[in-house]
Amino acid sequence: INCIGILTSGGDAPGMNAAIRAVTRTALYNGFEVKGIYHGYRGLLNGEIETFRTENVSNIIQLGGTILKTARSKEFQTPEGRRQAFENMQREHIDALVVIGGDGSLAGAREFAAEFNFPIVGLPGTIDNDLSGTDTTIGYDTALNTIMEAVDKIRDTAMSHERLFFIEVMGRNAGFLALNGAIATGAEAAIIPEIATEVDQLAELIQNGFRKSKSSSIVLVAESEVTGGAMGLAERVKQEYPEYEVRVTILGHIQRGGSPTAADRILATRMGEAAVDAIIEGQRNVMVGIQDDKLIYVPFSKAIRDDKPINRDLIQTIKMLSI
Ligand code: ATP
Repeated sequence: INCIGILTSGGDAPGMNAAIRAVTRTALYNGFEVKGIYHGYRGLLNGEIETFRTENVSNIIQLGGTILKTARSKEFQTPEGRRQAFENMQREHIDALVVIGGDGSLAGAREFAAEFNFPIVGLPGTIDNDLSGTDTTIGYDTALNTIMEAVDKIRDTAMSHERLFFIEVMGRNAGFLALNGAIATGAEAAIIPEIATEVDQLAELIQNGFRKSKSSSIVLVAESEVTGGAMGLAERVKQEYPEYEVRVTILGHIQRGGSPTAADRILATRMGEAAVDAIIEGQRNVMVGIQDDKLIYVPFSKAIRDDKPINRDLIQTIKMLSI
């Protein structure tokens, strides 16, 4: 292996830049050539490729987003598209690839690696924390902190008006942000796709809260068809309990942005270094994960399995503490 290509793909996440920096500098330190690929797999297809030196990644550790930009590519999902991508890699003499992204990006990496014989190492870059085989993903801690700050502010206004707020957070089909966001803000409930919650249960919980003279209630809702989202839930509660003054906030893309927290910068840096170590050791088609503070290599097939366990006990904790 002489040259390592690096790209970010799918949804961006704070800390991706710290990972790009760590991969680039670890690779250069070990004598590899490094090529930055812009706009994810799309850029690989279109040949948006640039030689990276150490100064290309100067002063980026603190930046949100990704300097390599990101994209979604339909073409890469076809065998012809992936062949074109591989030919571009060969032309650029890239003989190993580091892919930073979520489950879709790693599913793409797995397909790509199965068809062509070269090493790909993945880094879990997503705020959703929905990759298996790793305790946490790059961007998750920053997003959780953004949610915490936003909900604290909403709590101020909710208290003044005695309102019931449904706050929708991201997570795709995973409830990590909603559940831990609720714990961090002292919310009255978290509605997550992993655990079905009936409107009646929810109303009971909130009624109890109001009865105990709470002046506001905050419910964090994970975006998902299963939960119906904050809008859907609010509509149902309003219909059945018109006495409540219900408000909805959808936090949206602010959750994706911002300067990464120390935890995310450190995680991204350690994982970036581990990605290059993996290539040196001859590992291939694995994602770097972290378990009990130890870096591990997880096969792509295991990482993208849709079965990451969530700590269900925390639902009970939220309930108990909202008395
Ligand atoms: P996030 O979870 O943060 O949104 P993601 O990595 O899951 O990020 P996706 O949009 O699902 O984002 O995937 C990114 C890109 O990966 C897709 O646009 C596509 O090019 C590629 N990809 C996804 N799934 C596959 C697949 N099964 N085969 C080939 N390529 C794929």
